[in-house]
Amino acid sequence: MVKKKNAGKCDDRNCPIHGNINPRGRDFTGIVIGTNMTKTATVEWTYRLFAPKYERSETRKSKVHAHNPLCINAQVGDVVQIMETRPLSKTKNFVITKKLRKERGFKEKLEEREEEKAKVIEAKTREEKKEEVNEEAKVE
Ligand SMILES: [Zn+2]
Repeated sequence: MVKKKNAGKCDDRNCPIHGNINPRGRDFTGIVIGTNMTKTATVEWTYRLFAPKYERSETRKSKVHAHNPLCINAQVGDVVQIMETRPLSKTKNFVITKKLRKERGFKEKLEEREEEKAKVIEAKTREEKKEEVNEEAKVE
């Protein structure tokens, strides 16, 4: 890969443009769903797989951790191109090579998803409490 002139600006050695890693192998396009770890983004994408048994295709999801270089700095909701590279840490062997666009309303969607999860957990704990009460009633 050709090194850019302003290489001094980005001192990330795992950067695909300014660093010394060599992205090769598989590449995917996905959406960033989390950036809570330093210089790491969680990227998710869906793909369709044909299931011969049912003669239909099913939608599957894939999720990987990808290196998020400072000069790209992808945020939640960004559609990014990732490429396979040598392992950068225990769970990272992909690097973000390009920020393509912003997915509109993705943050809201993600929040909705989190809310749904919270609701399910809440309902479960409520049920557990009910059971506890029932058991107490039985004892008496
Ligand atoms: Zn860089």
